[in-house]
Amino acid sequence: MGRVYNFSAGPAVLPEEVLKEAAEEMLDYKGSGMSVMEMSHRSKEFAAIIEEAEQDIRDLMQIPDNYKVLFLQGGASQQFAMIPMNLMKNGVADYIITGQWAKKAYQEAQKFGKANAVASSADKTFSYIPDCSDLPIDEDADYVYICENNTIYGTKFKTLPNTKGKTLVADVSSCFLSEPVDVTKYGVIYGGVQKNVGPAGVVIVIIREDLITEDVLPGTPTMLQYKTHADAKSLYNTPPAYGIYICGKVFKWIKKQGGLAAMKERNEKKAKILYDFLDQSKLFKGTVVKEDRSLMNVPFVTGDEELDAKFVAEAKKAGFVNLKGHRTVGGMRASIYNAMPIEGVEKLVAFMKQFEAENLK
Ligand SMILES: *Cc1c(COP(=O)(O)O)cnc(C)c1O
Repeated sequence: MGRVYNFSAGPAVLPEEVLKEAAEEMLDYKGSGMSVMEMSHRSKEFAAIIEEAEQDIRDLMQIPDNYKVLFLQGGASQQFAMIPMNLMKNGVADYIITGQWAKKAYQEAQKFGKANAVASSADKTFSYIPDCSDLPIDEDADYVYICENNTIYGTKFKTLPNTKGKTLVADVSSCFLSEPVDVTKYGVIYGGVQKNVGPAGVVIVIIREDLITEDVLPGTPTMLQYKTHADAKSLYNTPPAYGIYICGKVFKWIKKQGGLAAMKERNEKKAKILYDFLDQSKLFKGTVVKEDRSLMNVPFVTGDEELDAKFVAEAKKAGFVNLKGHRTVGGMRASIYNAMPIEGVEKLVAFMKQFEAENLK
């Protein structure tokens, strides 16, 4: 069997072109006689890799000069602590709880100060985004925190919350580089790259310069201070070098596709194929309110657990893998990130139609 259509939520599908290029360069990166994996992170070859990667993501997202781009480790989950440790100057922050990742960030922040849950969609199993136009934002809040695309539940903020002048911090792990973004609306944008950008092991933090200070919570380890990494241009210690190299290739691939506007157009087209089918299907049904649907993660169910399991198993045999929903919610989920080709979604829908015809009682 060759390559499958991989609908995993993460680590997830990467562009085949990128993988092939990396394979070609595996033994001898540009005449260096070694793999990027074997290379000093202080070498001129790697300096060029990380500098180009930074420039390319700056170009793609039109990141203003007063924002730093940091390539860190520890996954998105480490940011749940790093954010309050670095940003909670008043010891207060407001969290909007739209799923498990936002909830985990909120719980972690409680270790460091007063974290308020100012809105939540837990009442309807996170199947929608709450109205965030007039929230009870704490006067002393150092920031307002959102998880912009909810990987598990398949919802996405279509408009950003009204933070009433407070700094917005967003976890964009599962919608990173999926559409154009106005960076100036945020204080911090961050994401683990293993969803939509690259291999596991890298987290990218885009942070406004005035938020990078020495005034952090007492006891904050050197490695968990943004200033450490900003001052050292992400080379304070050994960075996740190979992962950064692959991210750089993905940035170039996105540029070649036409940038984030082109990505958005493609992602909308792909999502529409799947949602249109779900909306008219008599067997499958989407679980998210229409206006808050994610372009990246599409959860759906048949309403019958046994049938769900049968679908996942038969889909796998047919070459559509990792369609099982998150272990905490069940059902199915198709993650259709940037690197999932349109034909992957078209073929999945054709398979779903066939399954429906065979299994509709
Ligand atoms: C996967 C995910 C995380 C956790 O990422 P790790 O890198 O495993 O820590 C956090 N937030 C969102 C939105 C995610 O999708």
